Amino acid sequence: MENLVAENLQTVRQQMKTACQASGRKLEDVKLLLATKTVPLEKLQLAMQAGETLFGENKAQELRGKFPLMEQYKQVEWHFIGHLQTNKVKDVVKYVTLIHSVDRLKLGQALHQQLLKENKTMNILVQINTSYEESKFGAPPEAALELVEQLAQFETLNIKGLMTIGKLNATNDETRHCFRLLKRIQTEIREKKLPRVEMDILSMGMSGDFTVAIEEGATIIRVGTKVFGQRYLPDSYYWNEHARQDD
Ligand SMILES: *Cc1c(COP(=O)(O)O)cnc(C)c1O
Repeated sequence: MENLVAENLQTVRQQMKTACQASGRKLEDVKLLLATKTVPLEKLQLAMQAGETLFGENKAQELRGKFPLMEQYKQVEWHFIGHLQTNKVKDVVKYVTLIHSVDRLKLGQALHQQLLKENKTMNILVQINTSYEESKFGAPPEAALELVEQLAQFETLNIKGLMTIGKLNATNDETRHCFRLLKRIQTEIREKKLPRVEMDILSMGMSGDFTVAIEEGATIIRVGTKVFGQRYLPDSYYWNEHARQDD
């Protein structure tokens, strides 16, 4: 049987290499996260067998469904990349090592409460809406610093950096603008030298724009379609008002 997942992975890995060379970056400074929403377990397993170790899930419920694979492939790290409702934090903190999508104080509070109960800490990124699109989650760029300062009060949260979704169906220049903005916010926050705030991770770039994101400084790119093929659910199911239930 042909293994398209392995083939696609080779292509993506090669493109990452080319983008790193073109922008004078080291390949080991850019991590590939595979976005797994709606992808069946068999396909994920092919990626794991090909040596991939970083996966990202959008929904708490789907994350739970991946549990058999977590048991089997212990070297694999899971991140949470989707919109997180405050009533779902319990499942998420149980399974993941980094949450990319903390975009509001209320969510930070909910995470903090849960983590206190479990006597744990969690690594997080703050999601910023760099494209200013209504349909996207993320704090407005102007509010980024204030949100980071507020979240830093919660001693259970380790702030590791920022995440964004670039403008979709846009020109390279438009997406590049989003990624540059995220980089600029990172620099501004770094200069404040806030206690307990690290700003080393920039999570940006997806199937359509990851090479641009690498050129602009991404340290984690999140790729789904390009490795696993088209999804049967539209992304609006994960990204827009349908996903807004508790806030
Ligand atoms: C689905 C998703 C991705 C991957 O998107 P592709 O276009 O399939 O590569 C990346 N980031 C987030 C937050 C996603 O929801």
